[in-house]
Amino acid sequence: MEQPTCKGRRTFLHELVLGAVAFAAAGPIALLSSPRSHAAVAAQGANGKEYAFVVDVSKCIGCGYCVDACAIENKVPKDSVRTWVERYVATEEGAHIDAIDTPGKALPPLPAALLEKSKWSAFVPKLCNHCENAPCVQVCPVGATFTAPGGFVLVDPEHCIGCGYCIQACPYGVRFFNEKTHIADKCTWCYHRVSKGLEPACVTVCPTNARQFGDRNNPADPVGKIYQSDNWQTLKPDMHSHSRVLYLGLPREVI
Ligand code: SF4
Ligand code: SF4
Repeated sequence: MEQPTCKGRRTFLHELVLGAVAFAAAGPIALLSSPRSHAAVAAQGANGKEYAFVVDVSKCIGCGYCVDACAIENKVPKDSVRTWVERYVATEEGAHIDAIDTPGKALPPLPAALLEKSKWSAFVPKLCNHCENAPCVQVCPVGATFTAPGGFVLVDPEHCIGCGYCIQACPYGVRFFNEKTHIADKCTWCYHRVSKGLEPACVTVCPTNARQFGDRNNPADPVGKIYQSDNWQTLKPDMHSHSRVLYLGLPREVI
């Protein structure tokens, strides 16, 4: 599979992402930067939907559009990430992560020596799993991290005291301390967009549909169809956190 490592392409992508996000911001987004406070969330509800996020590893080409779109949309501080893409390479010695796509940093080409001895490689996007049984929610001493209607695990910026317990408790390493806002930050599944009928930014820009978001209880929704097929996996199922991010085509070595 060809790897999109060309700098020019990435720059073009940045422009695309900026364009897409700016377009959205000119419309509903500008109106929806509502705080993720308990009160605001309770008022919005989820219209009876139960959301899930699908990551189809077999479709991901490692372009990193999603990573950059997220960083732009959510003003993710430099050197922090809300979503990223890991490249796994398997050789006779086993599988390992050889490179990670982070905001503004495209994946380098697979080194020739590694390519030669690789049995397979795969791009695996990662993000908050919006766990149903979320350890981060359980340990928060002030109830600032909470589960909103629809399954979003959110952080109430008005209540977070920045103690970092949730950062320690998350089995997936998806949280970080935001020096600017002084809260334990993470992916929100673009709650501010979804609550206004838009998709998460990473889903919007993915050129291969490797990322999908929808109502898992609606059989007419592509995500609902996947959820009800039972043909999906989650990361670290042994943690019993009951992830709402459903992976398709996940190599056994990655789980
Ligand atoms: Fe919390 Fe981590 Fe689960 Fe996200 S992945 S809901 S931060 S425990
Ligand atoms: Fe590109 Fe989509 Fe894979 Fe992200 S999930 S790296 S946008 S193909």
